[in-house]
Amino acid sequence: MVQAALADPLRESPYPGLLGDSTQPPDTILTPGNAGLFAALHNKDMSNAFDTGPARFAPAEPGLRWNHTFAGLGPDFYTELKPSPLPSPYWVGRNRALARELGLQSQWLESDEALAALTGNQLLPGARPLASVYSGHQFGVWAGQLGDGRAILLGELQTGQGPQELQLKGAGKTPYSRMGDGRAVLRSSIREFLCSEAMHGLGIATTRALCVTGSDAAVRRETIETAAVVARTAPSFIRFGHFEHFSFSDQPAQLKALADHVIDRFYPHCRQAHQPYAALLQAVSERTAHMVAAWQAVGFCHGVMNTDNMSILGLTIDYGPFQFLDAFDPAHVCNHSDEQGRYAYNKQPNMAYWNLFCLGQALLPLIDQQDDALAALESFKTVFPAALQARMAAKLGLTDEQDGDRELVESTFRLLAANKVDYTIFWRRLCGFTAQSGHEPVRELFFDSQSFNTWALQYSERIASVEPAQRHDLMLKNNPKFVLRNHLGEKAIQAAKLKDFSQVATLLDLLETPFDEHPGHESLAGFPPDWASSIAISCSS
Ligand code: AMP
Ligand code: MG
Repeated sequence: MVQAALADPLRESPYPGLLGDSTQPPDTILTPGNAGLFAALHNKDMSNAFDTGPARFAPAEPGLRWNHTFAGLGPDFYTELKPSPLPSPYWVGRNRALARELGLQSQWLESDEALAALTGNQLLPGARPLASVYSGHQFGVWAGQLGDGRAILLGELQTGQGPQELQLKGAGKTPYSRMGDGRAVLRSSIREFLCSEAMHGLGIATTRALCVTGSDAAVRRETIETAAVVARTAPSFIRFGHFEHFSFSDQPAQLKALADHVIDRFYPHCRQAHQPYAALLQAVSERTAHMVAAWQAVGFCHGVMNTDNMSILGLTIDYGPFQFLDAFDPAHVCNHSDEQGRYAYNKQPNMAYWNLFCLGQALLPLIDQQDDALAALESFKTVFPAALQARMAAKLGLTDEQDGDRELVESTFRLLAANKVDYTIFWRRLCGFTAQSGHEPVRELFFDSQSFNTWALQYSERIASVEPAQRHDLMLKNNPKFVLRNHLGEKAIQAAKLKDFSQVATLLDLLETPFDEHPGHESLAGFPPDWASSIAISCSS
């Protein structure tokens, strides 16, 4: 019944014919390298082909090895098309550590060839660009067909870390752009670049970002801004919404092909299960539970947990109006477009569960028995609290489990909320707490010092049995000194708009290793300035 009701908006999609376009073959693609060869073969211009000039003219080799597994699913899943060029691109940020992990040749990310290729102005040899189609529930409402409206997948790189898809976000219009311009602005691209690496540094499952390039091309949002492209990677960019798309548009063969693709590549153990598709739902539920537990523990608000922004691999994906909490407010809503507060910080676990139900609904034609789907979803309810408790216990420096630990975590959250204490600073200062010390650096964060004293007594008793050096070490590894607060991102963005990209580089450096001290950068670990609370972050990106 539910499926029938949900399918209607899709049929009314203003873009019913779009999938038909995907049967078109891609344009012939000429890169500068093979353009020279092409010309030479046709005897038009031999100068390039026989260029024996100095080595500095030789294009840097990316050293990429491609697979095109997603493309192998067939044209029902995507439209092949090339990125649209941007004029005069420039580097905004480069993640050399990720480039190394991907096995890219070190000089390549410094080259003009890389700048052009990662902006989408030239196609990397071996790439097979495409935009995928998906659907989704946005703010609790079925939104019908969406899809990669501005992200273009170049293919899958073979790396030492396994397969990694490479996608250019902001690389121009696609058949799924709807009313959008296919672009991303500099502001939101810097935020995605820095935050995805910040999450990775925090040990939270996430897509990664290789670089941001910018262009002075104008992009209209509330004001006129400029364009940028984020080159991002993930083992897969498949979302819950991909499954919803094929389920609710009544394409069971495609739904099954997609589920098999995901199981075979990422959840092979599900194949052995009595019910592989229910096992998939359970595995995704568990990964999602771990991801959201990690968000809650670090004080991260995603801001737009629509089902099209939920990764089938349990990765944090699509960084838009996110925020790391400053003062601890459980009901904090970071997205100014979210008027109902649907994605408030303390609602994130429930919203993840709601989204998993959408995924379960979408997989139902493959699972057969509703009870099997419900049982698979049930796992979220045990995995999430256990994962959150484990993360919080580590933040408190507890090296073993004892009765009363859950209550201690609860009372800590309540105390922080009542005193609106800065979340990151509280935990980092707590690392220096000892049962003997006066606790002054922590106490001064609370206006109600009496309730802090009561809590501190309870905490002191609990940690009396923990070896102090071990606790200190555990806490320093679980309570970051640096998170990407809104105001830090904002300052880097303002400088970048004036073509000073040094703050982007500095923040990337700190956020890659956020648990380290980084002497000399204390100001970036301090309280937010007063103006931080007036930063309005919306869906506009
Ligand atoms: P988001 O809220 O950024 O996750 O985007 C929701 C949907 O809108 C996705 O299908 C995006 O691809 C699409 N979209 C967002 N911004 C644009 C844009 N500027 N141009 C085209 N499509 C967009
Ligand atoms: Mg999205």
